[in-house]
Amino acid sequence: MSTQPLKENRLFINGEFVPSVSGKTFDLTNPTTEEKIASVYEAGAEDVDLGVKAAGAAFPAWSALSAEERCDYLIKLADEIEKNEELFMHLEAIAMGMPQSATKFVIQLAKRYLRYFGTHAIDITGETSLNTTGYINLSIRQPYGVCGGIIPWNAPLFMIVTKLGPALAAGNTMVVKSSEKSPLSSILVGLLCQNIGLPKGVLNILNGFGRPCGEAIAKHMDIRRISFTGSVATGRAIQKASAESNLKDVSLELGGKSPLLVFDDAPLEKTVMAAAFSILYNSGQVCMASTRIYVQEGIAPKFIKALKGAMSELGVPGDPLLASTKRGPQVDKLQFDRVLSFLDHAKEKGYDIALGGNKALDKGYFIDATIVRDVPENDKLIREEIFGPVLVINMFTDEDEVLNKANDTEFGLYSSVFTSDLSRALRVVKSLEAGAVGVNCTSPFMAIDMPMGGWKQSGAGAREFSKACLETWTQTKAVFISL
Ligand code: NAD
Repeated sequence: MSTQPLKENRLFINGEFVPSVSGKTFDLTNPTTEEKIASVYEAGAEDVDLGVKAAGAAFPAWSALSAEERCDYLIKLADEIEKNEELFMHLEAIAMGMPQSATKFVIQLAKRYLRYFGTHAIDITGETSLNTTGYINLSIRQPYGVCGGIIPWNAPLFMIVTKLGPALAAGNTMVVKSSEKSPLSSILVGLLCQNIGLPKGVLNILNGFGRPCGEAIAKHMDIRRISFTGSVATGRAIQKASAESNLKDVSLELGGKSPLLVFDDAPLEKTVMAAAFSILYNSGQVCMASTRIYVQEGIAPKFIKALKGAMSELGVPGDPLLASTKRGPQVDKLQFDRVLSFLDHAKEKGYDIALGGNKALDKGYFIDATIVRDVPENDKLIREEIFGPVLVINMFTDEDEVLNKANDTEFGLYSSVFTSDLSRALRVVKSLEAGAVGVNCTSPFMAIDMPMGGWKQSGAGAREFSKACLETWTQTKAVFISL
């Protein structure tokens, strides 16, 4: 395949690819080679307007289709993604350094997600009530109309699918902005929408930056709902923009700093492999990655030794275009420098760096698989999202102590507990402040029928999987019928 196998680089508006109104473009760099791979058109506020107009015009006919008719398109889109797996793997490798094995997993997830929502839209129903004398009352669920989606760069195909799948199934039309760091797979989704004959304007896809493009979506007066996945800081900006414009419904899926609790009776090998995979998958650029490990004193020496071995093996960096590569680079220079700054901080503070701690290769934005031990709980390595292959391990004595430490964070996206004691597992599950908890596992991303959404500052108003997600894309109307 050529360096940039995708010839299209424009915005997908009203079913056609068009240049941006300003004609501006921006460059993309391959994080493995540090070379330019493509230029794409950059959307501004005028392009957002065009997308919203197209989505508005498409809404009446799209929402009038039966649920099955809408869902047929989603199933067809999943089939098209299947036919183009090689191309998606290539694009994610050159645009964001995702190894083929990691992209394969994301592609499976994206297809399953579309097929799930393509099957379950028919389950959107309301309620009836005879509880008021002289009335039959009912509630109906209706789409919002034109919705906005803003996605991060770290799993581009899956992220766009999480927005368009349930939104379109529920009868909405959309304007989605891809991340400026990884827009290529979203452009390919636009091409596939043309292949399946998705009606014009139902989905509009813009390449662009947070400002002006994302901001214009967040402020737009004709967008009724916005679904955002990204950092807490941007989530806050989007909520503010909504508050200051038309009070659109806002769904936020935000960052995490997930704790993983290892008790003395944990199944050692399983725990080690789960912990290593969680921090190294996509080079730690995963919102739910287990970044804080708390290990009980008795098992700590064995656990840390085995984890160092597993991370050394799984963490070997390489070219994401090679099928044998296990781990790629960080997405770009900005992210690379950010992760290195955390490592410099650990060195300045004199923390125990038990593994790695440096830039990994001479070329490309590769960072060592890293373990830092015994870090004070108030340090930024424990408090802030690093979004790299960097793990902190601290020890604990008893259950109360570890629960206090695990919950002492503003994040609440994901947590895991490893133990052979079922009662303890369930006690801990109940006490952990997170939207999802794994018992003897980290995140089984494939569980699409389970509602996922962050607690605390990891989210607001969002449920991204399951039928609960579909409901978030509809608004209810109460209907009172006097007998
Ligand atoms: P980010 O917040 O920097 O950017 C996310 C998106 O928002 C991008 O498309 C960006 O262009 C846009 N944006 C930036 N400023 C904006 C503004 N003022 N108005 C509107 N849009 C704006 O996040 P990122 O660096 O792309 O992604 C990493 C973050 O995403 C991490 O915090 C990670 O934990 C989080 N994340 C969360 C989940 C989840 O499911 N909870 C999943 C993936 C990533």
